[in-house]
Amino acid sequence: MRIAFLGLGHMGLPMAVNLVRAGFDVTGFDVVPAAVDAARAASIPVAASGSDAAAGCDVVITMFPSGRHVIDAYRGAGDDPGLLAVAAPGALFLDCSTIAVDEARAAHELAVSASMRSLDAPVSGGVVGAENGTLAFMVGGAESDFEDALPILEAMGRRVVHCGEAGLGQAAKVCNNMILGVTQIAVAEAFVLGERLGLSHQALFDVASNASGQCWALTTNCPVPGPVPTSPANREYQPGFAGALMAKDLGLAAQALELTGVDARMGRLAGEIYTAFASGPGAGQDFSGIITTIRDDSPE
Ligand code: NAD
Repeated sequence: MRIAFLGLGHMGLPMAVNLVRAGFDVTGFDVVPAAVDAARAASIPVAASGSDAAAGCDVVITMFPSGRHVIDAYRGAGDDPGLLAVAAPGALFLDCSTIAVDEARAAHELAVSASMRSLDAPVSGGVVGAENGTLAFMVGGAESDFEDALPILEAMGRRVVHCGEAGLGQAAKVCNNMILGVTQIAVAEAFVLGERLGLSHQALFDVASNASGQCWALTTNCPVPGPVPTSPANREYQPGFAGALMAKDLGLAAQALELTGVDARMGRLAGEIYTAFASGPGAGQDFSGIITTIRDDSPE
């Protein structure tokens, strides 16, 4: 089985490295020369173009910044025939990028109309999960294609969930991250309120982490230093999961809310809050750093 891996950025490169370590025959490509150099340094063979990498391949994996990149690469333009035109007949296209649900469905339709198979398989777990091969995959597409993809995904991740038909992997990702974005703000607001009321961080943590306020945003990603020594708050909010990525994901959630007409006021507001956060230094900080803006916006 020959695999093309396109998009060798922060996530893609370590994912490709894990595939090679697991014994898969991988050829990579990235449009950015520095990413190509890093891939070569990590012993990943790199082709001269995306189409060269994908030519005759049985599996084509993409790990791109956005849905536009995925659809453009599938289709091609000008001299570029596009990935769908060059892969082996009936090849499996695995898009691991985080993109909008409707874009994932459009990419799937393009693949099917080119007689290819496709799955959306976005991830959570960040760069550390990509490096350690412990990503969680949320997969949308046909059951038989999911079965075929499983050994590949299991070489890069630990938890692989089939969420349903095409697009539902992205749906699961957007719903999960909407919960995460909203709960991280709620936890941060509670700590700032506690501070103003004279409650210590540790006392609030000890109560809420053993009561109904318990959640990942509190017990793993605690936004104040101290109670959870491994949380980004203990290293000046170095990510972790950057504010820019949370703003992007909640933008995709807002698109899905628009598409479906769901009245999710908390999700929409969280998107606005992270967009403002990510327009400044918050872009590169862990999203739990949102607590600093809540303090700044709460004059004593
Ligand atoms: P990144 O920008 O580091 O990597 C994307 C790479 O794709 C870049 O190197 C870019 O040059 C390359 N690329 C774009 N178009 C291309 C094309 N046509 N052919 C070949 N290469 C192309 O981004 P990342 O942090 O690796 O994230 C990738 C995806 O994973 C995004 O959709 C992101 O939302 C998602 N994601 C990221 C994280 C994270 O913590 N970084 C976590 C979960 C999900």
